[in-house]
Amino acid sequence: MTDVIVKANNISTEFYHSFLLGSSQPLEYLKSRGLSMNSIEKFKLGFATNVSLIGNLLRAKGLPFSHLVKKDNDSEDYFKERIVIPFLDGDNTIFFTSRSIYDIGTRHLHLRGGIPTLYNSNTLLDAKYVFIVESPLDAITLEQNGIRAVAKLGTGLNLLENLLIPQIFLIPDIEESRVGEIDAIKTAAYLYSIGNIDVRIVYLPSNGVKVDPNLWFMDHTIEEFRKLPIIQARDVEPIIFPGLHGPETFTFEQAAQKTRVKKDVVAKTGDEVAEIKRKANLLEIMRDYTNSQGIQTGEAVLFLCPLHNDRNPSLAIYPATQSWCCFGGCGGGDVINFIQRIEDINFKQALELIKTRYLGD
Ligand SMILES: [Zn+2]
Repeated sequence: MTDVIVKANNISTEFYHSFLLGSSQPLEYLKSRGLSMNSIEKFKLGFATNVSLIGNLLRAKGLPFSHLVKKDNDSEDYFKERIVIPFLDGDNTIFFTSRSIYDIGTRHLHLRGGIPTLYNSNTLLDAKYVFIVESPLDAITLEQNGIRAVAKLGTGLNLLENLLIPQIFLIPDIEESRVGEIDAIKTAAYLYSIGNIDVRIVYLPSNGVKVDPNLWFMDHTIEEFRKLPIIQARDVEPIIFPGLHGPETFTFEQAAQKTRVKKDVVAKTGDEVAEIKRKANLLEIMRDYTNSQGIQTGEAVLFLCPLHNDRNPSLAIYPATQSWCCFGGCGGGDVINFIQRIEDINFKQALELIKTRYLGD
């Protein structure tokens, strides 16, 4: 990530935060979920307006803003009318996610381009244990009670690979479909497969139903939390969930089995990715997207950057290394992440697109 993006993110964090502090409805919403003012300030939670101020603010400062406005209309805030949650790394904001409070659109909306790390990953430093939950507000609730917690936000398990922490606890999301509980079992099986990590599961029962940390801590204390039963992931009872043709069962052993198979597939996928990167001609692909031949200057070929509103060619392609870099703040990388960014799709979809459109597969 470039310095200018971080700078733009930092300014935006302060801006969203001060806007939240002056907005009664979103502030009340957070308090109604049990978050203290101290936590709201510590985690620099914010709120995005319904009119675009962020685009104009950053534009006026000459900073990149395309990631924080709507793709088709740069006068509209990308996080419009949502709680904005920055991923803080020391004093810097490296990413944003958001939460809808009016139940409009998806519950969690992340910045485009994929989640780079676990939410609140700073807490992992020197940690002897960590709780993994699904949503940032749940992680904040736990931290508020003196418990180290990160949020996974439904992202890939690969983000967990570097968790060198002896004790990991999962608090599954509880839904009728039981997807959250199944996901927790899969996560546990995965962690077990990569390093024999002992994963335990904690449920938060309240009035006979299991609830999420936000709700639970509304009428329970930290002392009660410490007394909750802790279950070894491998000992969790089989989960019975509504399948297509009636009830189905999911167990830890099934998850472990799948993880073993997946490892073989991942090894093969690695080769495939390398091959796509080697075969795809990034220069030709950029010519295709920009309808231009580009300007040859030394090692590089320069284009108007299609990822931001570019007036002077600021995107360089280096054919020798098959890489790109935008000096206007969009970052850089290889052919796959370029396609991901411009098409707003995930890694796998980008591979498919490159294969079908450019490699004639
Ligand atoms: Zn750019």
